[in-house]
Amino acid sequence: MVTRTPDYYADFHCLAGGCPDTCCGQWEIVVDPAAKARYDSVPGPLGEQIRAALTTVDGEDCMVLVNGRCPLLTADGLCPIVAQLGEDFLSTTCHTHPRFTEIYGGLAETMLSVSCPEAARLLLEREAPLTFITGTDEQPPEPNDLDGTLVHILLESRETAFALVQDRSRPLADRLALLLCFAQRLDQHYDNDRLCRQFSALYCDPNYQQRQLARIRRLRLPHSRSIHPLQELLQSMEHLSAQFPAQIDRMKAVSPNSIALEQLTVYFLFRWWLKAACSGYIWRQAAAVVVSVLAVASLTENLGDVQLAARLYSKEVEHSESNLDLLRKAMDLPQFSRNALLNQLTQEVPHAI
Ligand code: SF4
Repeated sequence: MVTRTPDYYADFHCLAGGCPDTCCGQWEIVVDPAAKARYDSVPGPLGEQIRAALTTVDGEDCMVLVNGRCPLLTADGLCPIVAQLGEDFLSTTCHTHPRFTEIYGGLAETMLSVSCPEAARLLLEREAPLTFITGTDEQPPEPNDLDGTLVHILLESRETAFALVQDRSRPLADRLALLLCFAQRLDQHYDNDRLCRQFSALYCDPNYQQRQLARIRRLRLPHSRSIHPLQELLQSMEHLSAQFPAQIDRMKAVSPNSIALEQLTVYFLFRWWLKAACSGYIWRQAAAVVVSVLAVASLTENLGDVQLAARLYSKEVEHSESNLDLLRKAMDLPQFSRNALLNQLTQEVPHAI
């Protein structure tokens, strides 16, 4: 299989007991059947402790959290399963986090979730533009019914999307505006390989980019610059903690413009763009990327720390399939139309509304 990972992937090491926001808490820790069988076979006090911590939620085996933390964690924040039985004994969820792999037939792409403090630090502290490393492993391709032409279009167009977003000669808000226009054109013609290639070539051309930005500025954008639609959308989601809804209430419209937010945009593009291979909805994926960056930019204003804001957003939105579904479908609503989002990006936005 062809593998792809971010260039900092090998630098990641779990902070374990030194982690300021351990992943062994807050959310349900699902235990897969193979791990459940291993846990059932552990003798002695540790085995009894593990089995006492297990429960069933919606037909799945999970660890029961105590005071928002995995009950197995020791006082110094270490996992006794790792300490006594080794990492390989862990459930798939615990063993792989924060690594998330998406498989598209013969391509496996793995990212480190920004919900993890160390993964967030590696991504958001760096200055150099994010790149990805392609390799191969021994795994055979997974059977699939994906449209090979569409996957190809998405892979090529994602490279253009990366290049647009990483062009530091213009403000990030302008780059995101170009990304939205590019995605909309692709979305309208995703079944036409030749046209999609032409769009990619056009959006790689600095003169065309400049003309496109001029066109965007001439648009009569009727929508208000209110951040309320985004706040309403986030409030309508399921919440993991009371901290998130409280932060949503304090959100203000801000113009995203930092290297950290550029890295975050590329992160979301890497994770979500190819998902259009299953649905064909390229617009939904691109708009969800831009809306997520706007949300993290706004949360950063209140929290004063982009890593904290990205971690919070990722935990609450990116790690919930139902929230992700809600986010993507909302991108078809008029309040998240291309012009509504361009309006958020291309005008001088006051820091408080
Ligand atoms: S959140 Fe990241 S650094 Fe912290 S315990 Fe989990 S994997 Fe390790």
